[in-house]
Amino acid sequence: MSRLEQIIEQLMKISHDPRKQLERYQSEGKKVVGCFPPYTPQELVMAAGMVPMGIWGSQTESYQVRAYVPAFCCPIMQSSLEMGLNGSMKGLSAVMIPAICDALRCITQNWKVGVPDIPMIPVTYPQNRTDAGIQFLKSEYEVIRARLEKVAGHPITEEDLKAALEISRQHSRAMLEFAEEARKHPDRITPIIRHSVMKSAWFMEKKEHLALVKELTEELKKEPECDWKGGRVILSGITGEPDELLKLLEEYGLMVDSDDLAQESRQYTAEIPEGDDALLCLAEQWKDRKCSLVHDTEKTRLVRMCETAKEHQVQGVITCMMKFCDQEEYDLPVMNAMMKKLEIPVLALEIDQQPGTAEQLRTRIQTFAEMICNSKK
Ligand code: SF4
Repeated sequence: MSRLEQIIEQLMKISHDPRKQLERYQSEGKKVVGCFPPYTPQELVMAAGMVPMGIWGSQTESYQVRAYVPAFCCPIMQSSLEMGLNGSMKGLSAVMIPAICDALRCITQNWKVGVPDIPMIPVTYPQNRTDAGIQFLKSEYEVIRARLEKVAGHPITEEDLKAALEISRQHSRAMLEFAEEARKHPDRITPIIRHSVMKSAWFMEKKEHLALVKELTEELKKEPECDWKGGRVILSGITGEPDELLKLLEEYGLMVDSDDLAQESRQYTAEIPEGDDALLCLAEQWKDRKCSLVHDTEKTRLVRMCETAKEHQVQGVITCMMKFCDQEEYDLPVMNAMMKKLEIPVLALEIDQQPGTAEQLRTRIQTFAEMICNSKK
């Protein structure tokens, strides 16, 4: 097995079995803090010497959660809370939950009642992203820092913070470089592999992941570029899941050119600025977030997607619309109109994390693939 294949296999295993990672870190005596999507200050967890671990739901049937949230709560939150309620997250020292939408706001309170043995740290991001909002966010991070210090059992120094911020910057650059290299090698980096590499970042210590992703990118650079004959698409949405959906893309000859997924590249496009005050730098990153989940009247993430679509000459955009996610739904008509001007078709798929829901997407993906591949000829 080549080194390239070894790294891919390792990252795929990790992305498919985060529980094993949690157990590994626990056996090494490390404390792990669960980080709900889409954004939490993971750097504060790293600075405290603990491991931030993403919580992105799972293909779990909803049972206990039905007593806490209505049926129209998004599936990712239903399954995440279900995992807390059924004990699947035992071993976490705390969770951080960003109160960024109505569903997440409710989950902060549900968690306190339903999962009292795992402390919950809420994260409140300001809608106002001017200087006043950033000052507020810095003060919010001070509160979170103090709560994490309690969990860790020791103080977080300014040096700890600066070191964590630097790792995070390097990791973000490495992830974007991987994404750029992956689009030159769709023969080696299939949609599932690309997603697994991206997702594995959520379940590993950043330093460890950084080393592996850098090595993977270097290995890819040694490979000849692929002359892809199939369709080239951008994926947008919260997550490009489940794997069955990605398998369908592969089956019908579609490669993921790039993504605008909250779980993947959106995490890395706003770099943490440099400066003397680490918490202020971290807060200032919020100004540059381009996402459907932040208050952005200019819709800059869609502008960026259009620029990428033109530059990369993609044939289509597939929106993985998380069921019942208002924020993403509000952006869809705007995206459709913007892409229409570029004559790039958009396929909106409703994503549900419940098991066995992907097969119904087959016909739509097949038709879309035939349409965009024929228009290329
Ligand atoms: S998927 Fe949408 S509705 Fe659900 S938690 Fe994320 S932002 Fe909120």
